[in-house]
Amino acid sequence: MDIVYYCKRCNAYMGSLDAAKASEERLGFSMLTPEERTEFLRYDGSKNTLYVKTLCERCEHQEEQILLH
Ligand SMILES: [Zn+2]
Repeated sequence: MDIVYYCKRCNAYMGSLDAAKASEERLGFSMLTPEERTEFLRYDGSKNTLYVKTLCERCEHQEEQILLH
């Protein structure tokens, strides 16, 4: 299974890794609540790929700016 990280705001591809080398616990997914799992994780069975929503540095910075103003 591949794990692909992408930005939830601008859809920028942020990187991927091979889940065979990293367990769910090590990735921290086991700490998520079921609601968070459905919000942040999306599994595509046809591609055997897990997509993980996150924020890229640029969007993270923009959100900080919004919160500050
Ligand atoms: Zn972004």
